[in-house]
Amino acid sequence: MLSRKWMEGPGRMRIGVDICNTIANVNAEILKCYHVSLDVYPFPELPAGFFSTTEGLTLLARAKPLAGAAEVLKNYALHGHEIIYITSRPVIAANITREWLAAHGFPRGSIVFLPRGYKKVFAAHYGIGLFFEDDPVEATGLHETVGQVYMPAWPYNRNVKGRYIQMFTSWKEVVNHADCFSSGYMVL
Ligand SMILES: [Mg+2]
Repeated sequence: MLSRKWMEGPGRMRIGVDICNTIANVNAEILKCYHVSLDVYPFPELPAGFFSTTEGLTLLARAKPLAGAAEVLKNYALHGHEIIYITSRPVIAANITREWLAAHGFPRGSIVFLPRGYKKVFAAHYGIGLFFEDDPVEATGLHETVGQVYMPAWPYNRNVKGRYIQMFTSWKEVVNHADCFSSGYMVL
């Protein structure tokens, strides 16, 4: 359970949420069209700047949400927590991303676009207590600054370890944690 230092006020916490392969199954769309191994991230098989191309943007728009993600985040929002979507997508994907979140029932929240490797700095300055992140580099950095990192399991992050990193294979596992935070606050 997170300590009180991560709470923004009565029952409030700032929660950072990565998008690609944390709530949106972009990997599944990539695998439909390209031969990539999921062992190294980002995929060396995709050219730099791929997600700024029409093809890349179309792929982002087509990605399916990971099952249960919207429900868990809605539950956090209902309990008064602030959801902030923090992504390394190119800014050109802003409209696609906003529309995708709304279309798939994700709670409202700011969308922050950062170059890869900067989430740790942002999270520290913004006081984020909990972060959902699949990227090994980002998760390792975040683990030093936020109270807890929840990391959806993919082949490329299986070796990432940290005292405050918790891996999960399905968003259904996270529901219990959400309930735990709200009941935890009540007994503080
Ligand atoms: Mg990601």
